[in-house]
Amino acid sequence: MASRFDIGFAKTARASGGVAILLQAAGQPAAGLADVDPGNVVGRAAEVAKFTGKALKSLDVLAPHGAPVDRIRVLGLGEADRLVAHDWLKAGGAAAKIGQAEKVTIYLDAPGVTVSARNAADFALGMQLGAYSFDTYKTKKGDEDEAKPGKPVKVTLVTAAASAAKKANEVSDAVAEGVILARDLVNEPANVLGPVEFAARAKALEKLGVEVDILTEREMKKLGMAALLGVAQGSVRPPRLAVMHWKGGKEKDRSIAFIGKGVVFDTGGISIKPAAGMEDMKGDMGGAAAVIGLMHTLAARKAKANVIGIIGLVENMPDGNAQRPGDIVKSMSGQTIEVINTDAEGRLVLCDALWYCNETFKPQFMVNLATLTGAIMVALGSHHAGLFSNDDTLATRLTAAGLTTNERLWRMPLGREYDKMIDSRFADMKNTGGRYAGSITAAQFLQRFVKDTPWAHLDIAGTAMGSPTDEINQSWASGFGVRLLDELVRANYEG
Ligand code: MN
Ligand code: ZN
Repeated sequence: MASRFDIGFAKTARASGGVAILLQAAGQPAAGLADVDPGNVVGRAAEVAKFTGKALKSLDVLAPHGAPVDRIRVLGLGEADRLVAHDWLKAGGAAAKIGQAEKVTIYLDAPGVTVSARNAADFALGMQLGAYSFDTYKTKKGDEDEAKPGKPVKVTLVTAAASAAKKANEVSDAVAEGVILARDLVNEPANVLGPVEFAARAKALEKLGVEVDILTEREMKKLGMAALLGVAQGSVRPPRLAVMHWKGGKEKDRSIAFIGKGVVFDTGGISIKPAAGMEDMKGDMGGAAAVIGLMHTLAARKAKANVIGIIGLVENMPDGNAQRPGDIVKSMSGQTIEVINTDAEGRLVLCDALWYCNETFKPQFMVNLATLTGAIMVALGSHHAGLFSNDDTLATRLTAAGLTTNERLWRMPLGREYDKMIDSRFADMKNTGGRYAGSITAAQFLQRFVKDTPWAHLDIAGTAMGSPTDEINQSWASGFGVRLLDELVRANYEG
């Protein structure tokens, strides 16, 4: 995943050649005029075009005679006193679209705006994310929006905060890599990315200093993970459980844990899904992808925290050996589950992963991510992920991280009445609670496997893939969760 842009920072820069991008806050002049446009042709052009610096609007100006660059583009920032973190990301994403030249100089210090190091680093992150596209399998390149692969565009971000921004950008680089890794994994087709191949991607994090253990089918059998294994038994490709441990904190710091659903392809099993749209089920490992992406980011930026990432990797297929509706499996916890619908498989994978995590590591908290239910899309669409939690502090921190990163969460209820809906006639519980409150009963199911450990479940079925594109994501897979959880860790769990 070579990066589209090679981004550097400078306090001042004499632009020469390529494109200059000037930022402009609403009602203010544009930045960098003295450097690229001493005659203020841009100012006059803006007046004529009634360009006022509205957020994400841009103005293309033919470089005036004698200007040191070929093109000048002005990008609006909106109201200076209302700028939040996400506005800088979006502005960066918009600049990524504009900056498809050999060389780009961007003047960040717009008059009326104080640009912090983090703002500049967020802008850089927005550029990296906005430029992402998944074209591994396109044998014919040459879409005009595409730079030549292997030859990143040189970008200079000009700001007074250059040296601090350069430092802050090390974090942005780590975040960009993590998000892009997650997007790549979700976009990858299931014939390429089975459980074994996926586990190998987790194993690759060892290069960054993450300890990685891959549990095989035999080891999981020994541990009694029959719920997870029941899902996998219809596939010729064996399941894996990847356990990643980043030890960046003090030895005495209790670990925090992230658990991901990694169903590399979900046909529904014997309760098979309709054909229309089934190809999207290659993305049913969006939770696991986010956990790998997060672990990559935390390790790459050397986060001062002890963090566990666990992903359950299976393929849900119909087969002569596939599990049947009505089958009863015994989870690692000892609780028995009647499988009513083999398409409600994510919770069967997660319940053993959660139990294993809790028993093995006694973490401070567990957050799991899963493309778990279609019902969450009915409730929230693509603009919020569902948040379910047994702990108000954890829920509040997650919600706050969601607002900062614009990977937003909406808290949904849990309760005894919902829990009763998954009681089974033949076993301790069943794996579906019927048509109503489908995402809540799924969460109730998971809660039966976390004891009193602070826990949150994020249902990302509506946000991990196929959500509307924007400045920082033009791809089917969004990488949802990486920035959110990195922010959660950064804001609350590092010393
Ligand atoms: Mn399913
Ligand atoms: Zn699924």
